[in-house]
Amino acid sequence: MEIKKRIIDGKLIIASHNTGKVKEISEILKPFNIDCISAKKVGIPEPHENGSTFEENSRIKALSASSHSRQISLSDDSGLCVNALGGEPGIFSARWAGPDKDFSKASRLIEEKLLNKNNFAAKFVCVLTLAWPDMYSETFRGEVNGRLTFPPKGNNGFGYDPIFIPDGYDKTFGEMNEETKDMISHRSLAFSKLRKAYLT
Ligand code: IMP
Repeated sequence: MEIKKRIIDGKLIIASHNTGKVKEISEILKPFNIDCISAKKVGIPEPHENGSTFEENSRIKALSASSHSRQISLSDDSGLCVNALGGEPGIFSARWAGPDKDFSKASRLIEEKLLNKNNFAAKFVCVLTLAWPDMYSETFRGEVNGRLTFPPKGNNGFGYDPIFIPDGYDKTFGEMNEETKDMISHRSLAFSKLRKAYLT
């Protein structure tokens, strides 16, 4: 199929200004010989994320990057959903960290809101969107369930990794090495759907 060939042979604009995400995505796509170019590096501005779901925000980012670059783009909208907080911070996960992107502060805020609640269940969600310059797009969702732990543990990864322990493990994402996280994360689950559709 023409589209599949274009992705495999070509380059992909990663529609994100988040260096942690761009690094993880480039690592996951390494075996496919795809040249991952960060939107920030090529001067593509961050669009206003005014959707009300991960899918809507993911599409907004990928379509904006494709329309600016005239290239195939890949976005990732993701976040942490805490059961006892009705799914918050969810699509506002980045915004809870404020303009300084202070995730220690955002994690403390979650801890405070969970005081007196005996439920630490949470999940990470990732919705990837592939968008083409003709404005066609497709989304792929991955989720990983787990529980929160305080204080934060580990210095690996990014964002809320140090407070999240995935089900079946006793370490936070922040304590795991890159390879282990990449095998089980919400992002890698979304990528395995994308791979099946476009990279096989
Ligand atoms: P956005 O998708 O750019 O709106 O940002 C999502 C935010 O969710 C990130 O800035 C992180 O705080 C958080 N997040 C998403 N995926 C992960 C992850 O794999 N580990 C830790 N935090 C994450």
